[in-house]
Amino acid sequence: MKVILTGDRPTGRLHVGHYVGSLRRRVELQNSGAFDQIFIMIADTQALTDHFEQPEQVRHNVLEVALDYLAVGLDPARSTLFIQSEVPALPELGLYYMNLVSVARLERNPTVKTEIKQKDFGSSLPVGFFTYPISQAADITAFHASTVPAGEDQAPMVEQTREIVHRFNSIYGETLTEPDILLPETKAAMRLPGLDGGAKMSKSLGNCIYLADDADTIRQKVMSMFTDPGHLRVADPGKVEGNPVFTYLDAFSTPEHFAAFWPDYPDLAALKAHYQRGGLGDMKVKRFLNEVLQSILRPIRERREELAKDPAYVWEVLRQGSAVAREEADHTLQQVRQAMKLDYFTD
Ligand code: ATP
Ligand code: MG
Repeated sequence: MKVILTGDRPTGRLHVGHYVGSLRRRVELQNSGAFDQIFIMIADTQALTDHFEQPEQVRHNVLEVALDYLAVGLDPARSTLFIQSEVPALPELGLYYMNLVSVARLERNPTVKTEIKQKDFGSSLPVGFFTYPISQAADITAFHASTVPAGEDQAPMVEQTREIVHRFNSIYGETLTEPDILLPETKAAMRLPGLDGGAKMSKSLGNCIYLADDADTIRQKVMSMFTDPGHLRVADPGKVEGNPVFTYLDAFSTPEHFAAFWPDYPDLAALKAHYQRGGLGDMKVKRFLNEVLQSILRPIRERREELAKDPAYVWEVLRQGSAVAREEADHTLQQVRQAMKLDYFTD
């Protein structure tokens, strides 16, 4: 069986980092027909681990994320879209897995380490946040997922899941499925930087272009982007490494975009070469990036606006998807309880 599990935290609307890091690939995989089942989870329980004081916001963002999903082309007829907290087997699985992971092992997780620093938890680090890699192992294994399409920041979570699966199966017998992460094809898409040049575009850092942004907002954000600080005059040679404008072009632009919007250059390599030689201003490059992003985001935004007129439909998609997910995860929970000798009253 080839099964996908992936998802997003409803901590805000989805941004173009999600698009290149995960959403675009999910839609391709969905439409390829190569998978038996596809589960896409809105991780509200996980969002609460660092937003437990903003339940309204999390609830509101469940709808926003679902709109983003449908707008990019996830299709409820082919992918199960569901809400994490609607599947009670997940926390029960997580509880059993907690015995298989040491505190020291969690402390070594580089993504969690970075996030703890960013969020400045200090000594009030919630246990729930600290242990979220274990919940993610529950999410992934509950569906016997073989494949987790995600950005690079998720690699430590999938690695942690593989360790749990390995330990579980060696103690209790072959029960769980070891997943593989499916990373984006290009380095730029694995971890799209923020508009500010920061290491990662992230809802929590406010350095994003959102899928729902209107055309003016996108243009303003692109035009005020950080570039190469050493590129002062147009004649100066510019750097493309670490220059987010070029990283975005790596992630988004195609030769067709050049043909349509900037036929002076056959492709990105030629544009980069000119920038590095000198004689090419940042404004021109940004104007092109704006065209590229506008052409990708316009159809998504228009679909989203249509869908947003009918929230009842979107909630119904999530209700039905959650029922399917619940059944699937309950089945896995039964297998786990049986393996752990906790099946007292089943015959
Ligand atoms: P938060 O700040 O609340 O953690 P986030 O922007 O990191 O939000 P998540 O919901 O944590 O988004 O991540 C969902 C998925 O999107 C994951 O697969 C993650 O790897 C991917 N992703 C998030 N940000 C980026 C990015 N900048 N580049 C590539 N992939 C990303
Ligand atoms: Mg995140």
